[in-house]
Amino acid sequence: MTERAAGYCEYCRCPAKYSAQSFAIEHIVPRQAGGPTVSDNLALACQGCNAHKATKTMAADPATNRLAPLYHPRQDRWREHFAWSEDFIEIIGLTPTGRATVTALQLNRNGLVHLRRVLYLVEAHPPVEP
Ligand SMILES: [Zn+2]
Repeated sequence: MTERAAGYCEYCRCPAKYSAQSFAIEHIVPRQAGGPTVSDNLALACQGCNAHKATKTMAADPATNRLAPLYHPRQDRWREHFAWSEDFIEIIGLTPTGRATVTALQLNRNGLVHLRRVLYLVEAHPPVEP
């Protein structure tokens, strides 16, 4: 699982090796909604993304206030839904799913923004997208 994700949170793309807390294996469709514990329903997530996602699979797109499905790391491609800001510090949602996920999972949390800024200085950010 960690290998498939190449050691990065599959949502905010922060690297596990620079995280103070160990990452979680997250159920994309939560167990309580019938999500199975199989590879296609599991994703590597940092503690922050895992906690903010919790049991959500949908969230409001802030541009339209309509519900949109959250980003699905096994079915969606990250770069189709997200882009980095010009300075690579923030994640920008490109689609309803991207915007809903940025908001619901708080992909531009303070800690992440600071980490990206530091990693960028040492040329360890942004990560190469699969
Ligand atoms: Zn994350």
